[in-house]
Amino acid sequence: RSDAEKFEFQAEVSRLMDILVNSLYSNKDIFLRELISNASDALDKIRFLSLTDKEILGEGDDTKLEIQIKLDKEKKIVSIRDRGIGMTKEDLIKNLGTIAKSGTSAFVEKMQTSGDLNLIGQFGVGFYSVYLVADYVEVVSKHNDDKQYVWESKADGAFAISEDTWNEPLGRGTEIRLHLREEAGEYLEESKLKDLVKKYSEFINFPIHLWASKEIDVEVPADEDDSSEEESSDSSSSEEEVEEDAEKAEDEDGEKKPKTKTIKETTYDWELLNDVKAIWLRSPKEVTDEEYTKFYHSLAKDFGDDKPMAWSHFTAEGDVEFKAVLFVPPKAPHDLYESYYNNNKSNMKLYVRRVFISDEFDELLPKYLNFLRGLLDSDTLPLNVSREMLQQHSSLKTIKKKLIRKALDMIRKLAEEDPDEVHEKDKKEDVDKSGDEDEKKGQYTKFWNEFGKSIKLGIIEDATNRNRLAKLLRFESTQSDGKLTSLDQYISRMKPGQKDIFYITGTNKEQLEKSPFLERLKKKNYEVIFFTDPVDEYLMQYLMDYEDKKFQNVSKEGLKLGKDSKDKELKESFKELTKWWKGALASENVDDVKISNRLDNSPCVVVTSKYGWSANMERIMQSQTL
Ligand code: ADP
Ligand code: MG
Repeated sequence: RSDAEKFEFQAEVSRLMDILVNSLYSNKDIFLRELISNASDALDKIRFLSLTDKEILGEGDDTKLEIQIKLDKEKKIVSIRDRGIGMTKEDLIKNLGTIAKSGTSAFVEKMQTSGDLNLIGQFGVGFYSVYLVADYVEVVSKHNDDKQYVWESKADGAFAISEDTWNEPLGRGTEIRLHLREEAGEYLEESKLKDLVKKYSEFINFPIHLWASKEIDVEVPADEDDSSEEESSDSSSSEEEVEEDAEKAEDEDGEKKPKTKTIKETTYDWELLNDVKAIWLRSPKEVTDEEYTKFYHSLAKDFGDDKPMAWSHFTAEGDVEFKAVLFVPPKAPHDLYESYYNNNKSNMKLYVRRVFISDEFDELLPKYLNFLRGLLDSDTLPLNVSREMLQQHSSLKTIKKKLIRKALDMIRKLAEEDPDEVHEKDKKEDVDKSGDEDEKKGQYTKFWNEFGKSIKLGIIEDATNRNRLAKLLRFESTQSDGKLTSLDQYISRMKPGQKDIFYITGTNKEQLEKSPFLERLKKKNYEVIFFTDPVDEYLMQYLMDYEDKKFQNVSKEGLKLGKDSKDKELKESFKELTKWWKGALASENVDDVKISNRLDNSPCVVVTSKYGWSANMERIMQSQTL
């Protein structure tokens, strides 16, 4: 087209498209769910705006918030249309080509190592998956604030935009037309598309319709000419089979009736492919594990084979009413801790009375729980206010509090159900082995490896729930035998008379095991916790005690190993020597010289004062690694 404006794709986007076009990835199905997901997002947006401005929906068909799929077998086109918010010319330029999302290069990198396209939606570049199946794509779009435009590209590094003067007006919304590649012909089969929608888009909250064929019986006068039958049905219908019904033509009375015959005809109509049910409104007892798993996949745009590690589906009642589903993902997202400090966004979708409001609310969960995925539907929050006003709403505090409780309960259960975890009750007798024992085996270790750091950050940040979070803490120790152990287990192993919980910090366990600070403690069979993650140093500045036991860093001043009657005697007899040492070493680096009972083979050791930084902390501060 001569009046089309040409644009080049941003470099990263162009690279991504090249990879997709040339991909040998076998699961090309994913394009459909990405387009449906975008259509659903666009519908969510217009529905949200219509809460405060009814006019915005327009009238007639435009008010129907739905998604329509059409197949054109002759021209080999699949088109997906929504009556969502649509895109202005500027939106088309920015969203589909010139502005790279932060996930673009991350995804390109991932593609090159794993080749797994399944997570494309999570990286915010799902649209481009259309080039897995199409070599030419048109996007026709109409936004209320602009004219209708067509975006088009053959994935050759450039795209074009023209004002649309030739297509039918959309009213409002977007139609994406995929001109399929030769080898992608299967996507012109209705049955294939129905299967895909069922498989991937079951939880889309808008009706998805397919312009689908249907065989119907039609009675026509038998003596009429076949060629005149067309008028009785849709213009797209075709005759397939003719059954002679002539014998019925005369009934018992011998009365003459017009002869009829039944023919099978193919007609086309919109067929609804999903039943628009909100899973969170159903009773948890009626929802199967498989349904929760599929729901998680669509919620998280994480279509791997993995099941979520855990979920919690509940109803809150009282002053603030809501229903919610929370999930622990099977894996930590690629950038979970990378963007921790400048990303407040929780991965919770907020609905108010079934209407999607936002997935960018930062007041629903505290930062350290942002690894969870979930959805919350509130009956208490007001519907017709702006997002900003909602963000200030007084109920949010209560909602957040309840969500945290439920989240921590869910994680606690992960540990309780894991047969690998040592539980008090197990020590007595073998507990009943339930059928899914194998599946639960090791699940808490898996959780801990993926999300343990979040629990530690929680202990640092959430004073109210510190004790609950501390219960979830796992670590290795001098007596944990290479496995993870908990504070409760530590306490159950404490020696009579032992008052404090002993720990030591450092870069790794092997190094710590050789530490002179442990000599005496090991010999006397005191258990010492190894903290080897840089974040542990910060953690221990906040975790002062647990179940009335104080934490004692064994490399710091103040270590007490129960009373030893000789202590006083020794102190007395070496008084002169320690005094001499103190004088000899006096400097700003040495505060005091004392007789110690923490050593066994080593003659002396440098310890940190109670409130000073441990040697490990000094090292961390110097390298600034958290
Ligand atoms: P994401 O959906 O994660 O934002 P996509 O690559 O799937 O990433 O889509 C890019 C952007 O294009 C969307 O954020 C949206 O702004 C726009 N877009 C895509 N499809 C539609 C649509 N059907 N209606 C309106 N906007 C759309
Ligand atoms: Mg998308």
